[in-house]
Amino acid sequence: AYVIAEPCVDVMDKACVEECPVDCIYEGGRTLYIQPDECVDCGACEPVCPTEAIFYEDDLPESMTAYATENAAFFADT
Ligand code: SF4
Repeated sequence: AYVIAEPCVDVMDKACVEECPVDCIYEGGRTLYIQPDECVDCGACEPVCPTEAIFYEDDLPESMTAYATENAAFFADT
């Protein structure tokens, strides 16, 4: 799945939300999250993010790998 990482925090531009064909990008308190079970890996969200916060999970910079877990955890109790 694709993952929304640190550059989205307190920005939440939401350009990605408009692009996502399966509406799997959700709003949290300070950042947006991609529901990993719903993401179809189309990649449409990644180039439209003005802060370049979106990465394919395997391509996350090392400093942001925790965001893959965080995106999944956001949906764990829902
Ligand atoms: Fe949505 Fe495609 Fe981005 Fe996944 S990769 S969050 S399906 S736009």
